[in-house]
Amino acid sequence: MAGTQTALSVALEQLTIAAERLKLDSGLREMLANPKRSLIVSISVKMDDGSISVFSGCRVQHWDARGPFKGGIRYHPNVTLDEVTALAMWMTWKCAVVDIPYGGAKGGVCCNPKKMSKGELERMTRRYTSLLYDFIGPYRDVPAPDVYTDAQTMAWIMDTYSQIRGYSVPECVTGKPLSIGGSEGRSEATSLGVVVCAREAAKQTGLKLKGATVAVQGFGNVGWNAAKIAYDLGCKILAVSDSTGGICSSKGLNPYKVYKHKSKTGSVTNFEGSENVTNKEILETKCDILIPAALENQITKTNVNRIEAKIVAEGANGPTTPEADKALHEKGIVLIPDILANSGGVAASYFEWVQNLTRERWSLEDVNRKLESKMVKAFNDVHRTAKKEESDMRTAALMLGVGRVAEAIKTLGLWP
Ligand code: NAD
Repeated sequence: MAGTQTALSVALEQLTIAAERLKLDSGLREMLANPKRSLIVSISVKMDDGSISVFSGCRVQHWDARGPFKGGIRYHPNVTLDEVTALAMWMTWKCAVVDIPYGGAKGGVCCNPKKMSKGELERMTRRYTSLLYDFIGPYRDVPAPDVYTDAQTMAWIMDTYSQIRGYSVPECVTGKPLSIGGSEGRSEATSLGVVVCAREAAKQTGLKLKGATVAVQGFGNVGWNAAKIAYDLGCKILAVSDSTGGICSSKGLNPYKVYKHKSKTGSVTNFEGSENVTNKEILETKCDILIPAALENQITKTNVNRIEAKIVAEGANGPTTPEADKALHEKGIVLIPDILANSGGVAASYFEWVQNLTRERWSLEDVNRKLESKMVKAFNDVHRTAKKEESDMRTAALMLGVGRVAEAIKTLGLWP
């Protein structure tokens, strides 16, 4: 990590900034600063060698005033309850910014999935699901993929939940494979949303998307798809990276070829015709659009002065600290905040849930049309708010998200 501020301290500082501007009273602020419910579980798993390992997992449900809880599940060695709490809080604001009827949640298991076999991952996922069983469900809390979990993980969750229920419940989870009720377009939706936001910001700043230079940190689901979509729109991909390092080429990279190379070698590095660079250098690439799509806390006070992009579109959750936000704004760099930029993922998850509940199937064109319209509306809402409030886009998005959730809580009232 490039800095030391925790994700939760960032999330709480952002809440304070929004609450001050919205003039929320102290009781409401305290409610919003704390998740409604957090569950910690110990997941005992039989490993391939016959031994038993116990993994620590959790599910944090932040607020559900606008609808059922919704949020991804992350498998990573650095997962902590605090980090998951921050991610759950951001989910609450995000669902409100993109205006879908969900609250925010997040789950995590502290493990190293890269060192586990497929069988071990399946047994861990099923046991974790059984421990969460009473807390999740189609009208209660609907999980989705996040870092190092994917459509297969969601399939195991759906199957475990359905086996216990006694009948098939595809609507208990989103981000599933197409064969079991997943939605067309879901796997690329987060990245499509990121690129649509970057396109709208480019329009505002007079930047032409065709030929615009792009750097992407993280080459997983969000990063690789964002690089691919931007490339297909005529952008020049200057640099990409993953946890093993980065590559750059002034002539531009073909992300499809980089993806093939990574699938073969396990890393983007040593790609033919490119130069190896560090992850630090990726963020400091001189480019038009920078897309952080890895983890939190990447653009901080220590490197913000070396960021040379015109637009930063946050594919990842929480990659920029509040201090860095301020510095970027002062430098005239347009930052499209995570709770807006990557909200396409949860919007498409919502579309998947609706299709499952109604037993319908929408075409890819339908999904992408609805997604595009949600993203453009959310972008314009945030942009308009930023103008009105004379603020940066982060503050505006937080004001919109926190404000909508606060309004819902006030309208519902407190019971008992
Ligand atoms: P993923 O597991 O598919 O990919 C993560 C990528 O980040 C991998 O390429 C990994 O090698 C790379 N990475 C890890 N540590 C890194 C480091 N220190 N430097 C550079 N790269 C590093 O995960 P994902 O689903 O693409 O999620 C990425 C980010 O996007 C996360 O912050 C996640 O919360 C956020 N996000 C994901 C979705 C979604 O739909 N998947 C939706 C919204 C937000």
